[in-house]
Amino acid sequence: EPDRVASYDYDLFVIGAGSGGVRAARLAAELGARVAIAEEYRVGGTCVIRGCVPKKLLAYGSHYHQLFEDAGAYGWSFEELRFDWPALIGNVQAEVERLEGVYKRLLENAGVEIFPTRAVLTDPHTVHLAEADRSVTAKTVLVATGGHPIVPDVAGKEHFITSNECFQLETLPQSVAIVGPGYIGVEFASIFAGLGVDVTLVYRGKQILRGFDDELRMRLADGLRARGIEICLNADIKALAQDGDGVSIAFMDGGAVHADKVVAATGRVPNTAGIGLQQLGVELGWNGHVVVNEYSQSSIENIYAVGDVTDRANLTPVAIYEAQCFAETLFNDTPTMVEHTFIPTAVFSEPELAAVGLTEEEAREKYRAVDIYKAAFRPLKNTLPKREQQMFLKLVIDAESDRVLGCHVLGPDAAEIVQMAAIAVRLGVTKAQFDATRALHPTVSEELVTMRHRWEPPTPVAGSDAAA
Ligand code: FAD
Repeated sequence: EPDRVASYDYDLFVIGAGSGGVRAARLAAELGARVAIAEEYRVGGTCVIRGCVPKKLLAYGSHYHQLFEDAGAYGWSFEELRFDWPALIGNVQAEVERLEGVYKRLLENAGVEIFPTRAVLTDPHTVHLAEADRSVTAKTVLVATGGHPIVPDVAGKEHFITSNECFQLETLPQSVAIVGPGYIGVEFASIFAGLGVDVTLVYRGKQILRGFDDELRMRLADGLRARGIEICLNADIKALAQDGDGVSIAFMDGGAVHADKVVAATGRVPNTAGIGLQQLGVELGWNGHVVVNEYSQSSIENIYAVGDVTDRANLTPVAIYEAQCFAETLFNDTPTMVEHTFIPTAVFSEPELAAVGLTEEEAREKYRAVDIYKAAFRPLKNTLPKREQQMFLKLVIDAESDRVLGCHVLGPDAAEIVQMAAIAVRLGVTKAQFDATRALHPTVSEELVTMRHRWEPPTPVAGSDAAA
């Protein structure tokens, strides 16, 4: 075996230079392994090139709308407001290019060899590099190929664009219909609305953002409507068709919507097709994801997989964490199992939503007695502009142990607040310990440590306020 190991070209070959692949390659190389990585598109992957980073920059750009509206109440005035889409998207793309360079240098400085090509497995230890038309061998292979967006399978589906194309639009459409209830759809709805586009959000189910706490879903939907976004629920799409310069959507119930662009944000599937995995007999799951154990090992001993391609929790920090555990296990003699609990998540819309832990509905299913604490109020920042948008905070508590099971925030800086609360929640903080923490005044998050009254279901009296 030692001779055979030495005869491999590399100790580790990573397929895909996204969040997971880059981290695994870099750590393994720093730990002394001979590492190569293949990337068929752009180094940085979804997060850096067409995901988290450019999306958040666009979201920041869209926030100025509301800021300018409110500025007058704070004494500011200006002559004329104009928005220039090419300037915003150009700056975002330049920043993405800068980051791509940073990621390449990180790999190079760690001694990782980068192959700018599609890579396909031809046997468990051999990777074919399409562009160079040659093969290399490695003792261990890490599949970190991520996923790609899919569109609903309806007539005229070629008229959909996806999040990928939203980052490439040369001109800003006047109207957009976004199909899909998840965080990506909601975020793009919010971004486009902030930039002055007419937005319709279309979903065939009852409420957007499945998986988040029901009360926050409802309040977020209300918040989006208050910003002028039309939300069509229970809307089943029959077909898409070219309609002048735009596209029209026909619904099963006979209704229709016209928009300059129709964005499908209806899910993503793992990139496992056509890269040799089926041929090698690597076990794949129901939607094509690589099935792995707690060490991210696939059904073939030397083939591992991390990130979206394993469809565990499709978020950048999760891909990075899985990559770290993988590198520790294989290249630092420290077997490290992944543990996917208390992962904080956010929806970077206006209003912003973030959460860690269980929703009220999940907690009521799993625990015998659940206490709820909540606060709804107008943030100080909104008082001068007389903006009605409320901040909403909710703590879900196990009544028996007093442990905080979930923390949910809707409103300005929700994600920043929840990231910090996640430390305490993961460590098993109790409600009493929240209460024993001094408030930092005046902030919106101080309400989390000053919630004294347990929420009681409303008594059926006219005029009672359920959210008080
Ligand atoms: P990826 O980053 O997708 O990288 C995979 C790479 O492999 C790609 O570069 C691809 O080109 C390459 N590749 C694929 N096949 C091959 C092959 N055969 N040969 C060579 N190269 C190949 N997550 C968050 O945590 N927060 C957010 O706010 C957030 N926002 C998002 C917004 C959008 C619009 C999208 C689409 C995603 C967002 N995500 C967010 C999710 C996040 O981007 C992913 O979870 C993360 O990028 C997964 O990393 P990965 O390494 O698994 O895959």
